[in-house]
Amino acid sequence: MLALREEVMPLDPLVRVVDLRKYFSVRGSFTKKVRAVDGVSLEIMPGETLGIVGESGCGKTTLGKTVLRLYEPTSGKIFFEGKDIVKLRGSQLKEFRRNAQMVFQDPHTSLNPRLTIAETLLEPLREHGFDVGDAESYLAKELEKVGLSSEHLYRYPHELSGGQKQRVAILRAILLKPKLVVLDEPTSSLDVSVQAQILELLKSLQRLYNLTYMFISHDIAVVKYMSDRMAVMYLGKLVELGDSNSLFTNPLHPYSLMLISSVPVPDPKTARARQKVKPHGEPPSPINPPSGCRFHPRCPHVMDVCKTREPPLEEVSAGRRVACWLYIKH
Ligand code: SF4
Repeated sequence: MLALREEVMPLDPLVRVVDLRKYFSVRGSFTKKVRAVDGVSLEIMPGETLGIVGESGCGKTTLGKTVLRLYEPTSGKIFFEGKDIVKLRGSQLKEFRRNAQMVFQDPHTSLNPRLTIAETLLEPLREHGFDVGDAESYLAKELEKVGLSSEHLYRYPHELSGGQKQRVAILRAILLKPKLVVLDEPTSSLDVSVQAQILELLKSLQRLYNLTYMFISHDIAVVKYMSDRMAVMYLGKLVELGDSNSLFTNPLHPYSLMLISSVPVPDPKTARARQKVKPHGEPPSPINPPSGCRFHPRCPHVMDVCKTREPPLEEVSAGRRVACWLYIKH
């Protein structure tokens, strides 16, 4: 659907992020900062899913929350439908919040245990002045769209399974008919048997409401399944960005390859070939990241230039951007 629309006219991005940074102070230190997001630029097109993938602590959740202005950025710009949302206040900020929602990783903590499901769902509708008429029948119909029913309306979160709670959290996020939904590891706290159902639900809701997703996960196979394009993040920076299928089948950045090599493959030959290029070690601290390319202490292809000069994220082929000196002139 996106491809068809693009043939008719070029689309403007729904979201454009320019050199975004979010640093956190380290407790007990005036000078040390955690550089959780450190100069990220990207666009999200209307109707697409952009996946953000990387190891735990790489800054992907902070990126999602900063794009939604749940965190104030340290610097940089965030445009939503062409408007710089960093400057929004009052009713304009409230309107942005209606249009840009988030589903969190853990539905056990994201739902208020003291509210019934009906109260949970009515809260945002009331806050944004939605008149839904007969609330009970309205909510019963909406619950059906996420695979629940009116019998769940007056239950409390602890009376629901993990999957049911995440369905409620997803419904709460889409009830206000937002344009953008940031999905932060929406299945990683769920049983494996439920994960696929939730992913399918997210896909069907996207088609139904023409939603745009930012899909955040540490699992590159899930990101590939869900996303049109994916961005690979390492220590606060994007290291590769491109079409999900081609990035997954032909990763350029050694870190992308490392993530993909962790996905089990049935063919032993392919598995052995991947082992040979597997980088080593754990990610360094984002408080004091390595000089030059941040991946250089773990990279099997490290060169002298990598230790001193940071590679920019450059387009190396149509739609593919990579931050690695193997592909950029130096
Ligand atoms: Fe490896 Fe150098 Fe590329 Fe960094 S820039 S990923 S160290 S080859």
